[in-house]
Amino acid sequence: MPLVNMKPLLRDAMDNNYAVAAFNLVDYGTTKAMVEAAESLKAPVICQTSAKTIQYWSHKEIVSWVRTAAEDSPVPVVLHLDHCKDLAMIEACAKAGWTSIMIDASELPFEENLEMSKRVRDIAEKYGVGMEAELGQIMGVEDDMVVDESESVLTDPEDARKFCDALDLSAFACAVGTAHGFYHGEPVVDFDRIEAINKATRTPMALHGGTGLSDEVFEKAIARGAAKVNISTNLKHVFVESFVNYHREKPKDMEPLRVIDAQYQACKLLFASFIAKFGGENRAEPFLASLKEVA
Ligand SMILES: [Zn+2]
Repeated sequence: MPLVNMKPLLRDAMDNNYAVAAFNLVDYGTTKAMVEAAESLKAPVICQTSAKTIQYWSHKEIVSWVRTAAEDSPVPVVLHLDHCKDLAMIEACAKAGWTSIMIDASELPFEENLEMSKRVRDIAEKYGVGMEAELGQIMGVEDDMVVDESESVLTDPEDARKFCDALDLSAFACAVGTAHGFYHGEPVVDFDRIEAINKATRTPMALHGGTGLSDEVFEKAIARGAAKVNISTNLKHVFVESFVNYHREKPKDMEPLRVIDAQYQACKLLFASFIAKFGGENRAEPFLASLKEVA
């Protein structure tokens, strides 16, 4: 089916206590593996792209992969732009066929962040796509931007209310103790804050830094309003290791299709495990039926 807008999908997730898994695609193989993993579980999925990945390939290539993978699939697929600070790139994505865009102006003071995010809201409205924005600073490394522990600012629920009321977001990214990259030591996730923010905003929350969190953390965060969970670092490792390990185990096998198939299967398994963990299984049909009711 055609790509879907992120907004109604995440509303459905929030209302029904599950989260949609969002994976940062690398190439066509990972894109197809995400969609097929979702299909095997009758679940929706978000294929997302970092600005770096778009710069490496191009808008045209990425949109054609995701559309091709989604076209013959009965499950809803969103193409989302992850953390972006560049308005020109954001508009280029919306124009090229992304069905959701993210502005990350979280390093700016509140008013400037809101101002910049409002400009992106106008772009989202113009193209009829979903939108994510961020308030508070999430720890770790994202697209070579480093936020260390001392700079990380957890999001204040009252500020979150003001921010979300002004923007009508599909997803709200905020700092609740999770971090990008691998965790060193046990992450301290502030569940009370997640709950307070969700109560104040009634906006589906995007949980960044999903790699390395325990099942219990996911379960508690989703029960409190996390409706989109981002997984990137974990995929990067499986992507590289599955390729290298295949070659180590079968050093004489120089058939590229078998090597990339080993990688494909490993990535698909990883995607399916997260989709199931977040409660996405069998959510595709009820969501699509709810869209028809509205229409
Ligand atoms: Zn992130």
